[in-house]
Amino acid sequence: MKPLMQNLTILGSTGSIGVSTLDVVARHPQQFQVFALTANQRVEELAAQCQQFHPQYAVMGSEAAAERLRSLVGSDVDVLWGDEGLALVAAHEEADTVMAAIVGAAGLLPTLAAVKAGKKVLLANKEALVMAGQLFMDVVSQSKATLLPIDSEHNAIFQCLPADYSGREQAGVRRLLLSASGGPFRTTPLTDLAAMTPDQACAHPNWSMGRKISVDSATMMNKGLELIEASWLFAVDASDIDIVIHPQSIIHSLVEYNDGSVLAQLGNPDMRTPIAHALAWPERIESGVSSLDLIAIASLNFEAPDEQRFPALSLARAAADSRGDAPAALNAANEVAVEAFLNNAIGFTRIAEVVDRVMQVWLLGEPRELAAVQDADKRARAMAHQVIVEQA
Ligand code: NAD
Ligand code: MG
Repeated sequence: MKPLMQNLTILGSTGSIGVSTLDVVARHPQQFQVFALTANQRVEELAAQCQQFHPQYAVMGSEAAAERLRSLVGSDVDVLWGDEGLALVAAHEEADTVMAAIVGAAGLLPTLAAVKAGKKVLLANKEALVMAGQLFMDVVSQSKATLLPIDSEHNAIFQCLPADYSGREQAGVRRLLLSASGGPFRTTPLTDLAAMTPDQACAHPNWSMGRKISVDSATMMNKGLELIEASWLFAVDASDIDIVIHPQSIIHSLVEYNDGSVLAQLGNPDMRTPIAHALAWPERIESGVSSLDLIAIASLNFEAPDEQRFPALSLARAAADSRGDAPAALNAANEVAVEAFLNNAIGFTRIAEVVDRVMQVWLLGEPRELAAVQDADKRARAMAHQVIVEQA
């Protein structure tokens, strides 16, 4: 059967995931048409993408940036800006598929708008799901949106679960194993960690990614957020999800079944694989990723994560166990601390300390509506700023 043309909105098209998505799309002009592209501030990059992919809409983060984009792309593209513009292209009736690849809490509203509109949503923006958890998944089931994970670990687990998966027990799943590279500081002497710079933290050994997720990989908060993400996506308690460090990043994650079988998904560390998988699902398409050379890789290694080196992991586990608005607070405090680190305002090991301080005094709430999630996000940000100022 000839595949139908999919109309695609890419939220965050100038980022690392956005650019990889366009790379896959460009290989299949008969299958994908770009409907809308969005960026926060990078006007020139978005203009170049508009010239190559001819979207109907482009959305910028501010009115000034939208004005500059308009002067570069002319009247062929409808240029919008801000939250309203993002929500419009995410939920537009002509968009079939939405790649949610904005980084951080800024992605929550447009991602939810796409889910509410019942789109096929490719979820890279893990922070949105971590923040809104239950509310997010309730909207998915009400709207009958198709939610496909882009995070490589979650995409791997999705591929290792049965196609009609409806829960851990029905599927006979004993546990999920999330693999983690351990990031750039896996073997750095503990006494050197405090002095690590933003550029050192962003020099990931296996993956080339945006700066925020790169720092999260160095602290392993990324794996903590992914633990919460996996728990919501696959309806599995965090206590049934183990984390294993696998420095080569070839096995992207695993599912263990009750009979002792363990299924894994392997591949070169290149995000075009999960992106192509989700774009074409349930078909398979060429992604541009080279074949896996197991002989050249020769060995795959595994180790337990060191909680002293990576205190963010226990903070995330505690937030996952508390549920309620604890994950939203964890995420918000982490975003503030990572930004402060990237601006050289705090040292590397202070990131987890700031998050810890906020979580220690956090009064757990049960957010029943989106406004309560947004309020938790705002309060935790204010608390994290306060901790940073007090300890400067
Ligand atoms: P990035 O920083 O490279 O790109 C972020 C994109 O979001 C850019 O297009 C930027 O313009 C846009 N953006 C940023 N702030 C915005 C705002 N306030 N309003 C509107 N747009 C805004 O990030 P990335 O590495 O591509 O990551 C994107 C998401 O995907 C993150 O949630 C990350 O955790 C997740 N993810 C990334 C990778 C990866 O390999 N890069 C892997 C797994 C998951
Ligand atoms: Mg990941």
